[in-house]
Amino acid sequence: MKFIVVTGGVLSGLGKGIAAASIGHLISKDLKVTPIKLDGYLNVDPGTMNPIEHGEVFVLDDGGEVDMDFGHYERFLNISCKTKWNLTMGKVFNEIREKERRGDYLGKTVQFIPHVTNLIKSKFFEIGKEENTDIVLIEVGGTVGDIENELFLEAVRQLKIDVGSENIMYMHLTYVPIPHGVNEQKSKPTQQSVNMLRQKGINPDILICRCKEYLTEKTKERISIFCGVDKEAIITGLDVENVYEIPVVFNEEGIVNIINKKLKLNITPRIEWLPLLKQNKNSKTNINIAICGKYTKLEDSYASVIEAIDHAAANLKCKINLKWIETTDIEEGKISVEEALKDINGLIIPGGFGLRGAEGKIAVIKYAREKNIPFLGLCFGLQLAVVEFARNVCKLEGANSTEINQRTSHPVIDILPEQKSIINKGGTMRLGSYKAILKDGVIKQLYKNEKVYERHRHRYEVNPNYHEILANNGLVLSGLSEDGRLVEFIEYPKHKFFTATQAHPELKSSLINPSPLFYGLIKSCLE
Ligand code: GLN
Repeated sequence: MKFIVVTGGVLSGLGKGIAAASIGHLISKDLKVTPIKLDGYLNVDPGTMNPIEHGEVFVLDDGGEVDMDFGHYERFLNISCKTKWNLTMGKVFNEIREKERRGDYLGKTVQFIPHVTNLIKSKFFEIGKEENTDIVLIEVGGTVGDIENELFLEAVRQLKIDVGSENIMYMHLTYVPIPHGVNEQKSKPTQQSVNMLRQKGINPDILICRCKEYLTEKTKERISIFCGVDKEAIITGLDVENVYEIPVVFNEEGIVNIINKKLKLNITPRIEWLPLLKQNKNSKTNINIAICGKYTKLEDSYASVIEAIDHAAANLKCKINLKWIETTDIEEGKISVEEALKDINGLIIPGGFGLRGAEGKIAVIKYAREKNIPFLGLCFGLQLAVVEFARNVCKLEGANSTEINQRTSHPVIDILPEQKSIINKGGTMRLGSYKAILKDGVIKQLYKNEKVYERHRHRYEVNPNYHEILANNGLVLSGLSEDGRLVEFIEYPKHKFFTATQAHPELKSSLINPSPLFYGLIKSCLE
């Protein structure tokens, strides 16, 4: 078992997760790679965080709510990740506190070093052994210098002593700006960031320098001298349009050779999706897709939705222009639905919570249904499509979700019975992978299967008291849970393409296996 540690410096948002996932992809042809992500915050998981602050909450098959970087890991490595691979300081301290109360420390003073760092390291070995993995790929979240990450950095520093230097390597992601008017690659931020890392006792073996152009020989030489890293181990982290090009860039920069040399391995690089990328680049067909939500200011909040759209587009050889529609603007009369949806070929209502923006989304769904615009609803999107249908087709006046209006005359969407008594917010939704049984229809045709598994994250459901009236009015409840109680998929056959799911199929989409519903949506837009 060998370890690759990825840290980041200079500034956040440089794409450390994608860089780590790209490295994982490249080396995973012959080796089993298990990613671990370390997050310094004190929340146990990101499930309780606003997506505007932390990006999308990614949900795993096992029901864990984890950092969005696991989306990159799953898509780049083609694996299903596990909750415990996301180690947060919240989890670490919970466990330390439990152990201390139980008396496990036998009278000792419990200290950051060695108790906390030992616990962190024990997780690396535990996970590595459980997975019987060849490479443990550890991504330290945040930026070197952040107080939250000190203990994680200290743990990965010590790891070298435990496993020996031929079994571990450190990669550091930095930034090489080309300031406007200077027009020269500047290496100082990288030098300072590496200095800070070395102060913590970590000497990087590889530097990945994010830059808008390839690093010049001169820049590489400078960085090499000042940072004490071999020149050939300085890799350009080129700005690219499509993140799936990153492994290609890293490979061309020779990263696999450096890994082979340092870890004494003989890896041949894996690059799987080149033909698909080429198709996408040459395509001349453009499709306009609107995403209507309330976290549209930060695209990271809908990272997997965007990914899933791109996967479908690459397989259907077309290009997508995304249009973000803030549905609160529609509610406040700042823009009309017609204006907002001008030139739109297809529409997605992604997951969401709460009252704000919901009526705007319902108005948009009504427009799409009446004007025959291809529509896909995801989770909250399904719930609001049912509300719209109940109000305007079934004529159930005032129909609503009890999440939006507790005193609605027609609670067509209501809280799941098992959710009613839950008080704690963290990790208590209906989470993870569930089976649905599909009836004949467009969704079953797309999935090419009767039994399908998708991931869930919700507290509300289509109220079983209304199944019949919805169905009698032409809405097909085309996918149900095995016991027939929960509506997992709906479709409206009178429409060109009107589908929705209680699940989040975007979470399982990949370039090689695009989500069937996204594929169906884009295909219908093309028709
Ligand atoms: N707010 C809705 C629920 O809790 C939908 C959640 C979601 O879209 N993920 O059921």
